[in-house]
Amino acid sequence: MSVPAVLKLLMFVDSHAHIDGPEYDVDREEVIVRATEAGVTTVLNVGTGDPHSGAFERAVNLATEHEHIFAAIGVHPHDARLYDDAAEAKTSDLIARHSKVIAWGEIGLDYHYDNSPRDVQREVFRRQLRSARAIDVPVIIHTRSADTDTIEILRAEYQGTSRGGIMHCFGGSLELAQAAIALGFYISFSGNITFKKAGDLRAIAVELPLDRILIETDCPYLTPVPYRGKRNEPARVIEVARCLADIRGVSLEEIAAVTSRNFTRIFGLQGI
Ligand SMILES: [Zn+2]
Ligand SMILES: [Zn+2]
Repeated sequence: MSVPAVLKLLMFVDSHAHIDGPEYDVDREEVIVRATEAGVTTVLNVGTGDPHSGAFERAVNLATEHEHIFAAIGVHPHDARLYDDAAEAKTSDLIARHSKVIAWGEIGLDYHYDNSPRDVQREVFRRQLRSARAIDVPVIIHTRSADTDTIEILRAEYQGTSRGGIMHCFGGSLELAQAAIALGFYISFSGNITFKKAGDLRAIAVELPLDRILIETDCPYLTPVPYRGKRNEPARVIEVARCLADIRGVSLEEIAAVTSRNFTRIFGLQGI
């Protein structure tokens, strides 16, 4: 007598989402339920915005209220000009007081939009890396059109740490990815890897070791093919996994398992 086939439920981690924002005020709980039903069992929600506005507390509260949602908080390079001692103290304190807040970020450099002056971005990036080191939490890095400065600052401020972190929504060069991996980082791919014109990015994703890869939505942005044009949400992270499985010639099950395992390893989490 054969054993009945057991339905194997795939589990995915969305390692970078922004579902605490106003884009989800009308249906946030439905979005969370849809993610769980699709098999996206863990979400890292990243709180950004003006650190003095209550935005970080909003992200912390969402994680506190939902078992499978974790939080990261940090001052985005767009908002670097708003960073000061009070922002630093608040971020540090919220991370220390809440076990569901597991990373400092997103922090980094964005020379594409230049919403804050570049010298300010660099200084604030350095300060936040030092603070994350001081309280021993991983960091989430946002970098755009700033490969050289990003790696130079990471080498100067973060070499030799045991915690590492995530290069989120990766869109840099293979050299940047490899240098970051050498510093203990993981490389996270978002929906933009599914875009028709993203051949260069897919070529990089094929080169990287599977045990350093993560998947994310960065929702509400970067909705993957075939849902482009709609608001993004954590359930869609499966399309990123599907794309990685296709280009690497492995099963969706393997991408789901390896990216989930990588996520738990970075943050020292058990049984998510
Ligand atoms: Zn980002
Ligand atoms: Zn983000």
